[in-house]
Amino acid sequence: MTQDVLTSLIRPRSVAVIGASTQPGKIGYTVVKNLIEGGFSGRIYPVNPNASELLGLKVYPNVTAIPDSVDAAIITIPAKAVLPAIEECGQKGVKGLIIITSGFSEVGQKDLEQALVETAHRYGMRILGPNIVGVLSNTDRFNGSFAPFLPLPGKASLVSQSGALLIAIDAATFIRRVGFDKLISIGNMSDVDFADLITWLDQDENTSCISLYIEGFKEGRRFIEAARNARKPIIALKAGVSAHGAAAAASHTGSLAGAARVYGAAFQQAGVVQASDLDNLFDRTLALSLQPPMRGDHLLIITNGGGVGVLATDAAEKYGLPLQFAPADLQNELRQYMPEFGSPKNPVDLTGMAGADWYFDAIRHALPHSWVDGLAVLYCETAMTDPQEIAESIRRAVDESGVTDKPVAVSFVGGERSEDAMRWLVEHGIPAYGAPDIAVNALAALREFARMKETLSENFATCDANNPERARQIIAHARAEGRDVLTEIEAKEVFAAYNLPVAETRLATSEQEAVQIAHEIGYPVVMKIVSPDIIHKSDAGGVKVNIKDDAGVREAYRTILNNAKSYKPDARIHGIAVQEMAPWGTEVILGSVNDPTFGPTVMFGLGGIFVEVLKDVTFRVAPVSATQAQRMLDEIRGAPVLAGVRGEGPRDRQALAETICRYATMILDLADEVSESDANPVLVYEIGKGVKVVDARIILKKKPLK
Ligand code: ADP
Ligand code: MG
Repeated sequence: MTQDVLTSLIRPRSVAVIGASTQPGKIGYTVVKNLIEGGFSGRIYPVNPNASELLGLKVYPNVTAIPDSVDAAIITIPAKAVLPAIEECGQKGVKGLIIITSGFSEVGQKDLEQALVETAHRYGMRILGPNIVGVLSNTDRFNGSFAPFLPLPGKASLVSQSGALLIAIDAATFIRRVGFDKLISIGNMSDVDFADLITWLDQDENTSCISLYIEGFKEGRRFIEAARNARKPIIALKAGVSAHGAAAAASHTGSLAGAARVYGAAFQQAGVVQASDLDNLFDRTLALSLQPPMRGDHLLIITNGGGVGVLATDAAEKYGLPLQFAPADLQNELRQYMPEFGSPKNPVDLTGMAGADWYFDAIRHALPHSWVDGLAVLYCETAMTDPQEIAESIRRAVDESGVTDKPVAVSFVGGERSEDAMRWLVEHGIPAYGAPDIAVNALAALREFARMKETLSENFATCDANNPERARQIIAHARAEGRDVLTEIEAKEVFAAYNLPVAETRLATSEQEAVQIAHEIGYPVVMKIVSPDIIHKSDAGGVKVNIKDDAGVREAYRTILNNAKSYKPDARIHGIAVQEMAPWGTEVILGSVNDPTFGPTVMFGLGGIFVEVLKDVTFRVAPVSATQAQRMLDEIRGAPVLAGVRGEGPRDRQALAETICRYATMILDLADEVSESDANPVLVYEIGKGVKVVDARIILKKKPLK
């Protein structure tokens, strides 16, 4: 049903233009002109009570006067007139509304915008916009927009949150030689959002790659769900990388969780390939729209020049596809198509003597080889060779190899002849770029897509809490005292309720009790201040480690209390925590935020300067699967530390990954209560020896007292 309505929006058979104007220069004029000049295959009905004819078309006084059914109405009238027009469209039985008009939520008119949506939904209509350029589709020669022409035809479709950028990209498609079937402007997303369009475009037979320009959205989990379920490659360029809400965040995790990083995490979990900038969006879109995913890591480079071969090799490493030597049988085969001084290893260097025939033979034999997962063909223009001949032999070799499930990307470096040859290649389905690193980056996008899709099918770690009611009780108790900060003792109890391995910790309210607990736990112990008003305990002189005897306990008890009182005289003090002293281990940090877009999100990083200075951390939206948790461990720059440094054995990555999964489960389960949390540090031991959480912090969502 919804899909049908969206089809009416994107592929209407008949459109009304409400606000069609006879004045050139007005949007209502431009849209009608564009529909006509674009060669729209459906019917066009201009609507304007003050005109009778426009550009050779009959003009109707209102939408209900149109004798035919209307799939979509393109609305260009002023904001205040839109609501009644929608009502009329509803009565007419229009299905989709393309609202170009601006002046709604983007200028603070949220209620008016909401009223549009409610009215539309009452009639089963869907709204694209408001505040958009429109919809362009080569399939139906439908230019339902005020962008001057349809884009260069191709197999990608773009959804853009910026209208101006969409118009610019439309024009740029011809220069860049990246073709699109559809360009859809999404504007304020009052109703139809990215998730809807991803789902629709995934079914669209004329779209092979879904390309997104994103500034930001609210319903992050809907987006993840839609993208995860899509079969086609999705690539996103996310703009607006400044940290949001960082200033207001009380915890470490909060200040590190900038919007860009959480979006990046969500894209990973949604299987969405990312573009680093606008150029990269074009380049990767081209490859993703023309070539199959790359199903393994073995990239083979065939070149006629050492220089571009080395550049491509560097790029391969940089973009996560480090080169390996080709297997002996493939090398032997390839040796036939190069002079003595060539190299069959990888890069396969056919040397500057290579002509179209050697390229043909090398590709023809390499591509079907089971070891090869993807192919980069590089060419430096030479005086002896004709770029067009090389291009044609590349296409022919790929065709004759019969291989259709491995990607090929090409780079020609040279002058106009090379440019022309590359244009020919793109028109014949092979992405071609002016630099070797770009070709490799494009293949890396196809590899990232395949890799992400592999991990998305897996199940999420199910970690059952042993006592979730206990966690809720502790939170309720703190709330009853009017607090939104849990003490370390309380936080550790909540963690333990979710089977997180916390260091044994108990509360003492007298020196004598502290000594008693120390005996029961066993020396050495650690002692800390317990106060909801002291969040960073070390800063208050509130932590003493490695206490070895009763005298030490008594002394620490007094010192910690005195330190805390002079640090914050009015702090509420619950007592002193006595806890088991965990043996030394690699310090890592886990944390969580409640992201405004994606909700509960976990963070992982190494402790100490890694997190404080280098901000070397990574995020995932909860829940987190085992594979995603493993990925997190590899993603940080400090990852080698977990492999063991300075003679230490490798760390217990499995236990750490499991802890991340449990942590994510906890924050998802408690999402209605917990605003931020962290476990800082978590000590990680050698393989088989697990991890220990020695400090815990939970900050609750602010709720008005009832
Ligand atoms: P803070 O509130 O300042 O973060 P922590 O509880 O993290 O206080 O204690 C400070 C440091 O003391 C930790 O980073 C860790 O190195 C060490 N530490 C704390 N608790 C323990 C423990 N139970 N076992 C071993 N070391 C600990
Ligand atoms: Mg700490």
